[in-house]
Amino acid sequence: MKTPSEKSAGRPGFSIPLLFMHLACAGVFFVPGGWPAFFIFVLMYVLHVFALTAGYHRYFSHKTYQTSRTFQFVLALLGTTAAQRDPLWWASHHRMHHMNSDTEDDVHSPRHHGFWWAHIGWVMNRQLCETDLNRVKDFSKYPELLWLNRHPYIPAFALAILLLGAGSVLNLLFPTLGVSGWQFVFYGFFLSTVAVYHVTFCINSVAHLHGRRRYDVADDSRNNWVLGLVAMGEGWHNNHHRYAVSTRQGFQWWEIDLSYWILRALQRVGLVWGIREPPRSVLTERKP
Ligand SMILES: [Zn+2]
Ligand SMILES: [Zn+2]
Repeated sequence: MKTPSEKSAGRPGFSIPLLFMHLACAGVFFVPGGWPAFFIFVLMYVLHVFALTAGYHRYFSHKTYQTSRTFQFVLALLGTTAAQRDPLWWASHHRMHHMNSDTEDDVHSPRHHGFWWAHIGWVMNRQLCETDLNRVKDFSKYPELLWLNRHPYIPAFALAILLLGAGSVLNLLFPTLGVSGWQFVFYGFFLSTVAVYHVTFCINSVAHLHGRRRYDVADDSRNNWVLGLVAMGEGWHNNHHRYAVSTRQGFQWWEIDLSYWILRALQRVGLVWGIREPPRSVLTERKP
């Protein structure tokens, strides 16, 4: 069921912070580029996409594996530095998406509200900023997660300051590297965060419109190999809608699912456990 505010939602809002994040990317033209810029961009991109796909999505939204309270907080905090609000907000809306996929009650279905609403319009709608804690009762009992829910942008702001400090210190210690504090901020925070926004948003828009359908599920989800690569496994979205409790989303060997392999490595060292696989019956299922 939609909350009353979600029922009255449907028109994109206008988000000054989101606009600011996009405009700030222009700062890359005023700072040094080169390998350090590329390195910090890729590092922050991979950390954030992993925190969102393995943390926000496969853990907080679907509980496909288990972990300690400490590592749960690490995933939550890292995800919150990606400036996509906190895991309780994210998971509460994502659970809603699975309950109502591509029906009128889906908060971000391109079938009913068009591509732009599904991609970015819904995140700018103020009425959808609220978190329905009843949908995430399993995690809203943790005070540290509730704190992130109340202060969803403090960690992202702290990350920008941290990058500014790290880049400035490296510049002082190793001036020949070509690193600067603002370079780390513009490439590692603004550009990287905006790239992660659109890759995440593409799962809600593109992965419900373009790609192959292995499973004839009731929604429009698709397997999109480009998103499979850049979103570290999230592009196998038709697989995911068929069997959402599986940690693994790439069901075939050629469906590269980097987040799953990182989680397997983390399971080996004992940081996570109980990783779930798709059953054989689902793997061998064919469209009628
Ligand atoms: Zn999901
Ligand atoms: Zn979906």
